[in-house]
Amino acid sequence: MNPVTETETILATRKKLKEYPQWNSWKFQLQNRIKRENLQNYFVLTEEEKKGISNSIRLNVGATPYYTLLADPFDPNCPIRRTIIPGVGETVISPEESPDPLHEERLSPVKGLTRMYDDRVLLFSNQECSVYCRHCMRGRKVSFNEERMDKDDLDTAFTYLKEHPEISDVVISGGDPLNLSDARIDYILSNLEQIPSIKICRIGTRNLVTLPMRITEELCKIIEAHNNDNLSIFCNTHFNHPNECTSESKSAILRLIKAGVSVGNQCVILKGINDSGEIMLSLHRKLLEMRVRAYYMYDPEIIPGSRGFRTPLAKGFEIIEYMRGKIAGMGIPQFVNDLPGGGGKITMTPKWYYGFHQESRQHLFKSALRGTYHVSPEPIDSNYDEFYEKVDLSLWEKVKNDLKSVHNAK
Ligand code: SF4
Repeated sequence: MNPVTETETILATRKKLKEYPQWNSWKFQLQNRIKRENLQNYFVLTEEEKKGISNSIRLNVGATPYYTLLADPFDPNCPIRRTIIPGVGETVISPEESPDPLHEERLSPVKGLTRMYDDRVLLFSNQECSVYCRHCMRGRKVSFNEERMDKDDLDTAFTYLKEHPEISDVVISGGDPLNLSDARIDYILSNLEQIPSIKICRIGTRNLVTLPMRITEELCKIIEAHNNDNLSIFCNTHFNHPNECTSESKSAILRLIKAGVSVGNQCVILKGINDSGEIMLSLHRKLLEMRVRAYYMYDPEIIPGSRGFRTPLAKGFEIIEYMRGKIAGMGIPQFVNDLPGGGGKITMTPKWYYGFHQESRQHLFKSALRGTYHVSPEPIDSNYDEFYEKVDLSLWEKVKNDLKSVHNAK
């Protein structure tokens, strides 16, 4: 097609889509997801993208019209577009990759439950999503019908929870649990609420990003009804880039907050999408403006075909180092690595603590804000000396004349 005509056609198709009277209906959005064969009507696709779409063998390819229109039709490097359209790298499998790097299946006592920790479980509620994100770490299950959780499967999971009263916290994830019908969400929450040992329920949803119209008044009423003295409901969502923070998302978040649900964000560092301090800072500033607190920033999982998204571990440290001092602490995510092999999450911080100087009984720190060295004394009666890493004496000698302490704070 003539490039001018193609551009005009794509812009006209996008405009028409937005003008549908049912645009604000979540059901319309789901029924009209833009799937692999239709992406060419909304994007000028590169040859690489065309290959990526036709070769894609992992999870479905598709996105809601709402999310599709957030992506740039002409720029293949658009961060949103890159999470919708498969790249050719998706079919390049490296030996270190695994479909289940966290061993969620090995740690599953019954279908749909993963128990990595003693007191918490993950309940896989469904295999559907509004957008099939190319970086999805659960691509082995998401979009496959055989992974469907029917009512019997859910009941088996609830029975397991009743028989294990040491479990108090259930993360509902998928897929996207908020792609389920209101009735099914009500069923899940009612069951959890009726298990006396379950106190916390965390709903993991990307619909605040990809389908904000899903947060209807009716859904909020259901959630609010179960968010009570027996059960405390939280929501963790997954914004990755400031361009995803729209007025529609903010309204959806405010509706959830009115239902008493506090919302946190878990992002993933993705190469070429958000792997810089500036972008992450801008994202987290926008999130706070939308009343979303930072929760986690994940190092990307080693899943098949993820090479194009993976970043060096150092990126996470760089990002946190950059953000510290430029935004309130509630806007700084914990940099976490969900350890391959089912080791659970660990948090990682840049090097700000330089160890204990035994002779002076001072701890040495470096300011994230100013780059200066500071000391703070260990309590006189402490017997924890052996607990601390020892300060490097050559560093101590080098910096000792410039140290800032409680006595020279001016
Ligand atoms: S919404 Fe979540 S579960 Fe669904 S594809 Fe995206 S990352 Fe995976």
